Amino acid sequence: MSIISDSLKRIKPSPTIAVTQKARELRAAGKDVIGLGAGEPDFDTPDNIKNTAIQAIRDGDTKYTAVDGTPALKKAIIEKFKRENNLDFSTDQITVGTGGKQVLYNTFMATLNKGDEVIIPAPYWVSYPDMVLLAGGKPKIIKCDEKDGFKLTAQKLKKAISKKTKWLILNSPSNPTGAGYTRYEIEDLAKVLIKNKKIHILSDDIYEHIKYDNFDFFTIAQISKLKDRTLTMNGVSKSYAMTGWRIGYAAGPKDIIKAIGKIQSQSTSNPSSVSQAAAVEALNGPQDFIQERSDAFKKRRDFVVKSLNNIKGISCLTPNGAFYVFPSCKGLLNKKTKLKTDTDFVKKLLEESNVAVVQGSAFGLEGYFRISYATSMDNLKKAMDRIKSFCESLS
Ligand code: PLP
Repeated sequence: MSIISDSLKRIKPSPTIAVTQKARELRAAGKDVIGLGAGEPDFDTPDNIKNTAIQAIRDGDTKYTAVDGTPALKKAIIEKFKRENNLDFSTDQITVGTGGKQVLYNTFMATLNKGDEVIIPAPYWVSYPDMVLLAGGKPKIIKCDEKDGFKLTAQKLKKAISKKTKWLILNSPSNPTGAGYTRYEIEDLAKVLIKNKKIHILSDDIYEHIKYDNFDFFTIAQISKLKDRTLTMNGVSKSYAMTGWRIGYAAGPKDIIKAIGKIQSQSTSNPSSVSQAAAVEALNGPQDFIQERSDAFKKRRDFVVKSLNNIKGISCLTPNGAFYVFPSCKGLLNKKTKLKTDTDFVKKLLEESNVAVVQGSAFGLEGYFRISYATSMDNLKKAMDRIKSFCESLS
């Protein structure tokens, strides 16, 4: 009899973390690998946030806190939702966890029974299906087309709903495509959801602040008829370059928030007291660097999209958020190149040209790959040259 549980056999380790690890290993072995797999800003946490954390340590802010977040952080989160999203929440509608990842994991653990379905538009963030599986639920993957900007349409949503549907996950701007849903697109989906009263919506807004071209961020809880059924997840990891601090949060229905807290009380307890103090400063402190960093990301996005579209066999949409692009490599999957799948493409690119990217199939959509441009312009220039030479060498 295996010591490993059956539930663990249903899932696989994160493929994006695996690519980053592989690139790290190759680099340690002396190879000049450029990693375009990372899901974190290359910028550092701003000094005011770091200094607040240092002061928190000096002040003895080093003990257990309330399991689901300090009153100060919950207050800052409530103010953030009011200020930025025009949403009102009370303290018992807020929970704080060790990263958005833990909040999502707890949500599924707290709400899914065996066989409950979760609609996940693909391409998706790699952890959603595995978290659902671990919690005993059933991921219902809906492939979204490039022609729709990789976004879920009302028609596809309507078709995907069954009696067992418990959640719909929306992630805008998206990892891995960078696509952001406009207000109009969300309203279209909302029409379907308003009619299907049993479905809850999990809105993953972690990339809210990383957006371009005056994209007007809109989140589904802003639709008043859906607010009572929406859990809005967000965090400081991406917007404030705080991936290592591990603070994420959610706002939504009291019963779900309470259930998430119950799981947390029997697993990790509170997120780090020092990180919570830092997150208060992140949310309440100066916000101007967010725009400055988005401007820097935009320059890189423009460069990467243009470079990719200059390569024969590759085509790439221009996304309006996050720090990813999701180009198609379908034009290079044929008998002549001897490449059958996106995984073949990605593997050969790493082996022959030392550029690490992630295959689209890891995100549930074959024929594409994900590039994270959260790295220096120098690295991106080198990487684009290598990808171009590699693709040209195939034909
Ligand atoms: N959601 C999406 C779409 C992400 O890309 C990530 C991180 O990569 C997370 C949630 C989790 O972020 P964290 O746990 O760092 O807050």
